[in-house]
Amino acid sequence: MDAGSSPDDPSAHATRTFVDWGFTRGACAEGTSTGDFAGLNLGGHVGDSPGSVETNRVRLAERVGVDRSRLLFMEQCHGADVAVACGPWEGDAPRVDALVTAVPGLALGVLVADCTPVLLADPDAGVVGAVHAGRPGLAAGAVDAAVEAARDLGARTLRAAVGPSVCGRCYEVPDAMRTEVSASHPVSATVSWTGTPALDVAAGVVARLAALDVAVTWVPGCTREDPALYSYRRSARTGRFAGVVSMWSR
Ligand SMILES: [Zn+2]
Repeated sequence: MDAGSSPDDPSAHATRTFVDWGFTRGACAEGTSTGDFAGLNLGGHVGDSPGSVETNRVRLAERVGVDRSRLLFMEQCHGADVAVACGPWEGDAPRVDALVTAVPGLALGVLVADCTPVLLADPDAGVVGAVHAGRPGLAAGAVDAAVEAARDLGARTLRAAVGPSVCGRCYEVPDAMRTEVSASHPVSATVSWTGTPALDVAAGVVARLAALDVAVTWVPGCTREDPALYSYRRSARTGRFAGVVSMWSR
């Protein structure tokens, strides 16, 4: 993982809170998946062996430093619903596109293969979140909903890490779709490598975060252009990589 560490002001609390966040890559040494999913595929229901996916998730949990049961994913559905995580899931993962928590020792994951992964953190308040923001999610308001949910848990100074996704040049869409999305997210309107209508969804996500007064670190990388990242646009049969955020109190 390309992880960053964000300790808070040590004078502010007797207990210090730390946040770790980062994004996995598909092609990496830890991965056990093969064939179309070669590498660290973390996505279920994509055609990969369930055993390989679970082994990869266990390895990611070890890397993050949590028990596997405390590495939480969601059943993403391109909407804007948010779940508040209080501990390991009891039963199936919730059908949402954002997770937030104020519980230390949990790791929240978002799975992507072109959509924009967003991680949120306010170490001072002890709140973190993970958001799945593809084109439908951006249009549905997933970013706004996640930020609001994080603030409902007490977040005040939120920061975001926006991970690799398909870039605007590589995301050709029908002109009508560009018109529709850019009506609400003007900066997302762009053109493809061949000059046809295209969308820069991540630019729209970053603009929303900025409008919501969230400081952004945007990790470079286009999923379609970088073979080390999974991309649905490059190959419909592929894996999912993850953005993961975790929080610790010491
Ligand atoms: Zn690209």
